Amino acid sequence: MSADRLPELRRQLQAASYAYYVLDAPILEDGVYDRLYRELQTLEAQYPHLITPDSPTQRVGERPASQFVSVAHAIPLYSLENAFNREELEQWRGRWRRLAPEAEVEEYVCELKIDGAALALTYRDGILTQGATRGDGTTGEEITQNVKTIRSIPLRLTLDNPPSWVEVRGEAFLPVEEFNRLNQERQEKGENLFANPRNAAAGALRQLDSKIVRQRRLQFFAYTLHLPGAEEEIGNQWQALDLLKQMGFLVNPHRRLCPDWESVTDYYQTWETRRHSLPYLTDGVVVKLNDYGLQQELGFTQKFPRWAVALKYPAEEAPTVVKAIEVNVGRTGAVTPLAVMEPVQLAGTTVQRATLHNQDRINELDLRLGDTVIIRKAGEIIPEVVRVLPELRPPGARPYQMPSHCPECDSLLVRAQEEAALRCLNPLCPAIVRESLIHWASRNALDIQGLGEKMVVLLMGKGLVQSIDDFYRLSWQDLAPLERLGEKSAQNLVQAIEESKQQPWFRVLYGLGIRHVGVVNAKALSRRFPSAEALGAASLGDLLGVYGIGEEIAESVQEWFRDPDHQALLARLEALGLTLAQAPEGNNSQAKPLAGKTFVLTGTLPTLKRQQAQALIEEAGGRVSSSVSAKTDYLLAGESPGSKLEKAEKLKVPVLGEEAFLALLKTESAAP
Ligand code: NAD
Repeated sequence: MSADRLPELRRQLQAASYAYYVLDAPILEDGVYDRLYRELQTLEAQYPHLITPDSPTQRVGERPASQFVSVAHAIPLYSLENAFNREELEQWRGRWRRLAPEAEVEEYVCELKIDGAALALTYRDGILTQGATRGDGTTGEEITQNVKTIRSIPLRLTLDNPPSWVEVRGEAFLPVEEFNRLNQERQEKGENLFANPRNAAAGALRQLDSKIVRQRRLQFFAYTLHLPGAEEEIGNQWQALDLLKQMGFLVNPHRRLCPDWESVTDYYQTWETRRHSLPYLTDGVVVKLNDYGLQQELGFTQKFPRWAVALKYPAEEAPTVVKAIEVNVGRTGAVTPLAVMEPVQLAGTTVQRATLHNQDRINELDLRLGDTVIIRKAGEIIPEVVRVLPELRPPGARPYQMPSHCPECDSLLVRAQEEAALRCLNPLCPAIVRESLIHWASRNALDIQGLGEKMVVLLMGKGLVQSIDDFYRLSWQDLAPLERLGEKSAQNLVQAIEESKQQPWFRVLYGLGIRHVGVVNAKALSRRFPSAEALGAASLGDLLGVYGIGEEIAESVQEWFRDPDHQALLARLEALGLTLAQAPEGNNSQAKPLAGKTFVLTGTLPTLKRQQAQALIEEAGGRVSSSVSAKTDYLLAGESPGSKLEKAEKLKVPVLGEEAFLALLKTESAAP
C-alpha cells in the first residue's frame, strides 16, 4: 500500500460518509466502507504525519446540514470500536486488560448491535423534554417532536421520584417488515428506495412533518443511562438496563450477562445465525465491560469508549485491488478470466481470486489492472467481482483484452456463436487433459482418494498418464519413486484406483465429462439408459424424453458418443473392468437412503436447480413439502432464503446447504 492512495481514499470515504449520515442515501455498502476505512487507518498509522484533522478517522459521523435546530450534547455521543473477527475481539480484550491490569472481575454485558440511528433523550423531572440525533457526536439535531411519535419512548418516566435530569440513549430503528412496506410504497410512487433500515430510520427521524414520522412506526431500544451522581449506586451496565426497563423503556430482551470470556464468544456465535430470525436488523454484537468503575478507569479515545467493542458480522462484500488477470482453461476448453487480488477476508474465508466470467463481463465492469474492485462471496458461491471503483483507479490503467491464443497450448481461441466464452478446441491441450483427469477422480465422479490436482499434475509431468484409462495401468512400482510418495502411499493409491472400478455407471458417466452432463443429469440418464451402449444408441427423441434433459444436453451427449476417440476410450475402460452398465434392478431397492424423510426447499442453491434438488430427493425415497412444520426433517436452503428459514430455525429443523445436502445423499447411500 502506498501513501499516494491517501487523498483519494479520504475523498471517497468523505463522500460516502456524507451520503450516509446527511443524505441517508449511502453510495457504498457498509462492508465496503468499513474495509476502505481500515485501509485508511492502516496507511495513516504508517504515515502519521499525513493525517489531516478532517480525515474520516478523526471524527464521529457527520455534522448534519439540516433544517433542524442544532443542539450541543451535554455528554458526547461516541462511536464504537469495530472488530471484524474473533482475533480482533481478542486483541481488544488484551488492550483493555493491559490498561487495567488490576481489574479483578472480568464481566461483560453482551447486546445486539441494532442497525438503526442513535438518539439521546433528555428527561427533566421525569418528562421528555428533548430528543436529539447523534450528529457528529458533539452536536446533533433537535427532533423532539418526531421522537415523541415513537411509541416505545415514554413521554413520562414510570418512576415515583424521577431525577431532575437524566439522559437515555438508544437506537431508533425500523422493523424489517416496516422497512419493506415503506420501500414498496416508495417504489409505487417512483421515489428512491432506502438502502437499509438504518438509513430509513434516520431519514424518517428527520422528516419535518411529524405526522409522516408517526406513519413510519419507528421503535426504540434503550441501552445507555446517564444519571449523574448515581453511577456508583447503579454500579454497572446490567443494572442500568434493568433500571431503564423500570423507567418504561423497551430494552432488548436478548442481552446477556457474561461472567467469562467463553460466554462472550458463545453469544456472538449464537447470534451470528439466530439474527436472521429477528424482526429487525442487527449488524453485530456489542460487548461492554459491565462494571462502571472499570469503565471509568478505562475512559474514551477521541472516537470511542475503551470499555466496549462492536463485533461485526462478516461482510460478504469487500474492496480489494486487482493485481493481475489470469486466464484459466477448463475441462471443456472454456477460457475463464480470473482476477488475482490482494488477499481479503470475506464471509469468513480469505479470498484471492475471483471469477470475471468472460470478456463481455470485463467490458461491462470496465475493469482494469490495478483497479479497486468490490468482490462478493456469499456462502458457497464462487467469489466474483461486482463492480469497480473508478475513483481509485491508478493513472494510465488500460482496458483489458483477453488473449487470442490458448495460454497452455497456443491454439487459436474460438468464440462460438451465441456464447460468451472463448474456447480452446484442441482436445490434446494439456489444460483440458489435466482438468478432465482431475474431474474423473473427483468426489462426485469416481471419487478416488489421493488422486487430487497435485497428484494428477505430477503423473502428467512424468508422462505416466495422458488419458483416464492410463490410471488403471499404473503399478505401485511406477509410483513409489515419485517425489513425496513412499511405497505405502503408492500401494494405497493403486488400490484406490482399482476399487474405483466398482463405482456405479452414473458416476462413470459423470466422470467422462460430457459437456452439460452434471451429476443430476448423469443420474437421470443412467436410470433411463442403463449402459454406455444404450446411451450411445439413444435417439434425440429418446434423450429428450428424460426428465430434465433439453436439446442442448441431448445434442452434447450424441456428439460425444459419435466421436471415434470416445468410442475407443469406452472400449478401453470396459476392457479394464470399469462399470459401464447399471447393476440389474432390485439391488437398487436398498439404495433409498432418504426413505421417509421430508424436505422443504428455500432460496437459490449454488448449482442445483430446484427441480433437480427435488428429483434427487425423490429418487432417494424422500418427499418434498411446500411448508415447514414440526414434521419436516430437513430444510434445504440456498441464497436469499425466505421465511421458511426462520420457521425452521424456530422449530429446530436441521438446515442444509447444497454441499451438506449432497454429502448427506452420499453418506446415506454409503450406509448399509
Ligand atoms: P457503528 O454503527 O459501527 O457503531 C456505533 C453505533 O452503534 C452507535 O452510535 C449506536 O447507534 C449503535 N448501536 C446499536 N446497538 C447498540 C448497543 N447495543 N449499544 C451501543 N451502541 C449501539 O458506528 P458509527 O460511527 O455509527 O458508524 C460507522 C459505521 O457506519 C461504519 O462501520 C459503516 O458500517 C457505517 N457507515 C457506512 C457508510 C457507507 O457509505 N455505507 C458511511 C459511513 C458509515
